Amino acid sequence: MKMSQMAFKPLKNPPANADTINHKLLVQAGYVRQLMAGVYTYTPLGLKVLNKIRNTIRKEMNKVGGQEVLMPSLHPKQNWVTTGSWDSVDVLFHLESRTGKEYALGQSHEEVVTPLSKDIIKSYKDLPLALYQINWKFRDELRAKSGILRGREFEMKDMYSFHETQEDFDRFYQEVKDAYIRAYRDVGLTAKVTEASGGNFTDKISYEFMVLTDAGEDDIFYCPSCEFCVNSEISKVKEGENCPKCGDEKLKAGRGSEVGNVFDLGQKYVKDFKLTYTNANGENKYPIMGCYGWGTTRTMGVIVEKTSDEKGIIWPVAIAPYQVVIVSLKGMEEQAERLYNDLKDHNVEVLWDDRDDSPGSKFAAADLLGIPARLVLSERNGDTIEWKNRTDDATELLDYDKVLMRLSQL
Ligand code: ATP
Ligand code: MG
Repeated sequence: MKMSQMAFKPLKNPPANADTINHKLLVQAGYVRQLMAGVYTYTPLGLKVLNKIRNTIRKEMNKVGGQEVLMPSLHPKQNWVTTGSWDSVDVLFHLESRTGKEYALGQSHEEVVTPLSKDIIKSYKDLPLALYQINWKFRDELRAKSGILRGREFEMKDMYSFHETQEDFDRFYQEVKDAYIRAYRDVGLTAKVTEASGGNFTDKISYEFMVLTDAGEDDIFYCPSCEFCVNSEISKVKEGENCPKCGDEKLKAGRGSEVGNVFDLGQKYVKDFKLTYTNANGENKYPIMGCYGWGTTRTMGVIVEKTSDEKGIIWPVAIAPYQVVIVSLKGMEEQAERLYNDLKDHNVEVLWDDRDDSPGSKFAAADLLGIPARLVLSERNGDTIEWKNRTDDATELLDYDKVLMRLSQL
């Protein structure tokens, strides 16, 4: 992509109303635009990052046997009445049509996936079943703040599974937990795992996946060495005590952002919707259900919170919108065009700052955007190209072929 043609270019100044790093940098660099509090447009640049996050979690969900679907966001009132959530879920948006019919906007999809699965689960041979989607959620959050960390419209990967036995559920639950840890690692994050009670509908154990960041909303105690972490409000253990999991380190206090969770839903929803199957003895049984949420848009915000510096974003290579940005200084347009085309031919995701702008402001834009590698073409360097990693101060002068080789190996 040539930056001169990019629809949303980096801005000179951050937005005035930004209260967090992710809000400030994502808007200023041109990854998102705010429509109103908690509601954002993802620009072509932002969508590239979001797509990479989506594909990372998608790959892991496919690996554990999840099958992808896309469920509606507009739900009939009755499904929410059936589960008792029409009145009890405070974040549920209620809509009324011009004929007086009532609807809900999907804040989660148990109310859709359970009747949907009832159609296809008939016998024990149809179990286990795991359906997932990557889809927008709508929530009447009291305070939508912290950029894309807490939206009123946000995206989630949500998976729902049905099992014949508690043992099979426990097996799957562990597989998904491991898949989550891998997916967080692949997008450049380290997630701690809390054990917490499963909210208002079940007293079964659930896991919450937390990333340490001051922009998070949860006060936690965590182990610096292993994945252990607890919410400080409900915790039996305290700061400074030995980690109950690994015993190696003393627990520290910090703030975390919840980037995902997994719940044992038991038989709450299958009973509400009378979803039964016939077991091997011909008896009617309720399956056991689990749900697995992963905040894709929040994950993008948390990555920015974690890995930025005073100059801007620093994307991990795996989810950067472009692997490399070419900065061509005056008189180097022809050479830059050749390099740009060569890199594209080698399937390298390349951005070229071909704008007629000062070197200083081009360098600032490259840093703000957070592209992992920067190539500078200037008359001073002759035929060599200056390579600089976003995370380093040092630069290297490389031959053209060396640059091509390095980048095509990424
Ligand atoms: P929170 O405690 O942060 O409100 P939650 O318990 O309501 O989260 P779930 O309903 O289980 O979360 O949603 C699954 C995941 O979706 C969360 O772990 C989080 O990553 C993400 N998420 C939840 N609410 C929001 C929101 N308002 N904006 C962005 N992401 C969200
Ligand atoms: Mg919530």
